[in-house]
Amino acid sequence: MALADVSRDELQAIVAQLKEALNNHQAWYGALVRTLVCSLPGNKHDTSDIAHTECRFGQWFYSDAPEKLRKHPGFIAMGEEHKRLHHLAKLLLLAAAAGNPIDPLAYDGFSNALERLRLEISSLERELENSLFNHDSLTGAITRYDILPTLREQQQLVKRHAHVCYIAMMDLDNFKSINDLHGHPAGDRVLSASIRHLIKNLRPYDKVFRYGGEEFLLCMPYTEMAQGQDRIKELADGIAALEIDIGENTPVHVTASFGLTLLDPDIPVGASIDRADKALFAAKAAGRNCVRIWDATM
Ligand code: GH3
Ligand code: MG
Ligand code: MG
Repeated sequence: MALADVSRDELQAIVAQLKEALNNHQAWYGALVRTLVCSLPGNKHDTSDIAHTECRFGQWFYSDAPEKLRKHPGFIAMGEEHKRLHHLAKLLLLAAAAGNPIDPLAYDGFSNALERLRLEISSLERELENSLFNHDSLTGAITRYDILPTLREQQQLVKRHAHVCYIAMMDLDNFKSINDLHGHPAGDRVLSASIRHLIKNLRPYDKVFRYGGEEFLLCMPYTEMAQGQDRIKELADGIAALEIDIGENTPVHVTASFGLTLLDPDIPVGASIDRADKALFAAKAAGRNCVRIWDATM
């Protein structure tokens, strides 16, 4: 979920930089082919061992790209393809400079590398654009429109016994009083800090959706039966321990209640959400700041 941590402005800037990177490399490729075909002297930067760090994309990639993007697998793969592309270009230029004919396989390798780089750049760009569109800007949670398709996909896997999947409904406790006491902007900060804590502490394949207001749905596939409740309890404890700065002298604390259930393969996913909701209601009735698991008596 690394991308959920990147702000909207940062995402927009990165998308623009990726578009520029793609255009730059297209122009660079054109110039390089011209050099080879017309037997022109090559640009000395292109035969350097660190050419991939010196082109404009390289400078952005190795120096300017935001820290938060650096661990993203798409970012890493893009860097590897880019480095390979420059290495292959260097070999072609050195062969040409030595007056040797260019091996067609080496040339194909070079042009395939460009295609792969284009694919990596466009895929990352698409992912970032989707992320801009699908994520709630206040909390970083996924918008509610993705809940049903995601749960239906998970349900297909559960039906095939690929794994079990927990879902949990979460609602902040007495949140209205935080708004009433400190104002809506402070409430926003509390909401944002709590959900960002969840996102940061979930596994990359877990998902947090904003169900509505201060109510969130968690989807946790590949969770062992015995672990579901413990993991949610840890998240609840983590939220309760947060010291949230709202720009006043003392930080604010907040707690959350959770209703947990397994995604049932044999009922509509909406009915499983309803079970999580009933368990949440039980957690509220039990005094809040706790986790309840759905059972048939609820
Ligand atoms: P409970 O423990 O029973 O959940 O009590 P509560 O006060 O949290 O519950 P209630 O549903 O009465 O209040 C939820 C409040 O959350 C009401 C609404 O104004 C506020 N809220 C919903 N979305 C946002 C938001 O994006 N920002 C802020 N600041 N408040 C929000
Ligand atoms: Mg609430
Ligand atoms: Mg509520």
